Amino acid sequence: MMRALAFPAVFVALVSLLSPNVYATAVRRTHQHQQPPQTLTVPEGTRLLVVAPHPDDEMLAAGGLMQRVHETGGTVRVVYLTDGDGYPEGVKQLDGHVGPPTAADFRGYGRRRRHEAEAAISRLGLDKSACTFLGFPDGGLCKLMRTYWSERRAAYRSPYTRLVRPPQSEILVPDTEYRGEDLTQELAQIIGDFRPTMILMPRKEDQHADHCAARFFVADALTDVQRVHPDFTTDVVTYIVHFNAWPFQDEGQRLDPPPGLRGGASGWLRLPLTPEETRTKRLALRRYKTQMRAMDWFLDGFVRSNEVFSRPAPFQVVLPSRRSPCCDQ
Ligand SMILES: [Zn+2]
Repeated sequence: MMRALAFPAVFVALVSLLSPNVYATAVRRTHQHQQPPQTLTVPEGTRLLVVAPHPDDEMLAAGGLMQRVHETGGTVRVVYLTDGDGYPEGVKQLDGHVGPPTAADFRGYGRRRRHEAEAAISRLGLDKSACTFLGFPDGGLCKLMRTYWSERRAAYRSPYTRLVRPPQSEILVPDTEYRGEDLTQELAQIIGDFRPTMILMPRKEDQHADHCAARFFVADALTDVQRVHPDFTTDVVTYIVHFNAWPFQDEGQRLDPPPGLRGGASGWLRLPLTPEETRTKRLALRRYKTQMRAMDWFLDGFVRSNEVFSRPAPFQVVLPSRRSPCCDQ
């Protein structure tokens, strides 16, 4: 049962988070969604923060973009919201696994995926210290937006790992548990410390609930950051991974945007990759051994001659949310 009236004061936020130039660009392009994708430009010295709900999302969406930022003198940091540990089918495919997965199996699977992420990021030429793992519950993020928001109720318990808080080694803000406002605070701390000039986050239309929720938590965290640092601005760019059968209905070299989905306020933005960048992205994805075993066809579908992004219109976020647009999709 949802106790909506018991929620604390809501956050209302975020119209001005985009820098003035980006905002103006976004407005100008509102009516351009029918046009062919524009090119995403990557300024020299970009400080890129990639928000990945699970290990591998950053590589699927932006393995090329991360290389480009690195090659042009920028800095990349990836924050993984979950360890991707809530995947029973993946656990069952591990060598030597027998019987139904236990909580220890799921935790071990998460550790394995963290190591894979570090290996994949290293394959791009980045230091593995670019990876930050928050260890929030795989498959549970949308519930933190709505029901498990604050200390007014018990923290969410992962049905997989049986944990109610991240592993101690992954906690950034003391006393963090599986609550929505705790995740917002951790993200705000990362953004405030790193000061990204570009944040890459999932679109709300992504059909995986964790991806959809990630977008709301980033927006909420940006509101907190701007409250403390009023002059902070950043270029918010979005990506999508799960949307119907995209991108597997088309096996060409080029990655076209998902049919039926508009490109946000900017229209779709294309980042052409060099053959070497595409090759390196493929090799980096190979480091996700557990995921290659479970669904190599899915991962390979994102290895193309370009990546696609978009910029959102200025938006407003209210958390906690009485109805989760992510859990209910
Ligand atoms: Zn994911």
